[in-house]
Amino acid sequence: MGNRHGIGLSNVLQKTPVCLFRCLLSVFSITVLLCAHSTAQERVAIGLKTHDRLTTLLFSPMQGGYALTDEHRDTVYRFRTDDALSITANAGRVVVKSIFGLNDTLAEAHLTGTGINPAFKVRYNSSGKEHSYHGHLTVVSEGGRLRAANSVGMESYVGRVVQAEVGYGATDEYYKIQSIICRTYAVRNMGRHSSDGFNLCDHEHCQVYSGRKTATDEVVKAAAATSGLVMVSSENDLVLSAFHANCGGQTANSEDVWAEWRSYLRAATDTFCLSERSATWSRVFDSQEFIDKLGFSTSEEDLHHFAYYQPIRKKYFTLGNDSVELGSMRWILHLRSGFFNLRVDEGQVIIDGRGYGHGVGLCQQGAMRMTEYGYDHSQILGYYYKGVSLISLQQLD
Ligand SMILES: [Zn+2]
Ligand SMILES: [Zn+2]
Repeated sequence: MGNRHGIGLSNVLQKTPVCLFRCLLSVFSITVLLCAHSTAQERVAIGLKTHDRLTTLLFSPMQGGYALTDEHRDTVYRFRTDDALSITANAGRVVVKSIFGLNDTLAEAHLTGTGINPAFKVRYNSSGKEHSYHGHLTVVSEGGRLRAANSVGMESYVGRVVQAEVGYGATDEYYKIQSIICRTYAVRNMGRHSSDGFNLCDHEHCQVYSGRKTATDEVVKAAAATSGLVMVSSENDLVLSAFHANCGGQTANSEDVWAEWRSYLRAATDTFCLSERSATWSRVFDSQEFIDKLGFSTSEEDLHHFAYYQPIRKKYFTLGNDSVELGSMRWILHLRSGFFNLRVDEGQVIIDGRGYGHGVGLCQQGAMRMTEYGYDHSQILGYYYKGVSLISLQQLD
């Protein structure tokens, strides 16, 4: 998943209006501030294949009508359904050629869909793989390569991202949880790629948005059931909606992992994930290898009979005069988590760990199990994100 840091839009929340009603769920204390289910159709512009060098792109309409307009938004061409358009980069402009005779050079190519839920297919760099998207496509040329952005409805975007993140076979309530997390992330990070000409990229840097995986009916329904809902903190800021696979029994305070304190990212005991597949793990290192990798000054002899216990999550691992943050240690040693006990036995360092991921925010496997016990999405979000509220996107405007 993407690293949950980025440019916040907390300033837009200053204008959040008073809501019609407020419902406090006593068990997990989430506040649901719902005036009505939003019908917001906000669009989001997603940079496509931003981590590849795009030099050519083949566009073809799938559903609805498509027209090509130039940088002045003058119509250059209208597509037949069996048409296709190649777009290549040339000296800061794009060369467009269609099956049925168009041959032109433009500063910008805007492929705008009309009708119900217009959709198109794309092949990148002459690849045989087809990608499909809903909405519109804009292509420009920069530095000898193409830059493509897909303008798509927020809920359509949410469905794709949730499908890629969660996969198949989850509960409806769980898909709702990931939909709210995804939407909150998207709105919070709308300015992340403003200098690139779009809102978010389709890579892990933001959220994986696949042109290869369309959302199933279950995911589309979950996105629609939570349409327009985002999480805000008790300070009325859009929530940094961090999540991880399995917390190992306790989630982490944000400042212990990222040095950023957040009122809603508090350590919480979680018994729901303890029997899940990522709940425990172990690793073994040679003592000298362990010391060398961490850059510790400790001698191998000092390690004899050393033991480190973490009944609850700590911030540092300490050995003699040496110390390292557990979050850093996790990366240095490629551990599944920073939540572990450690002992030394016959020249070997044995690490018995719990959980998978950074441990901050929502524990996916715990949340999934909670939905199977009948907890609903607002209860579960309130369990992992302290004191947050759900509000509609319209209330942000
Ligand atoms: Zn990005
Ligand atoms: Zn957990």
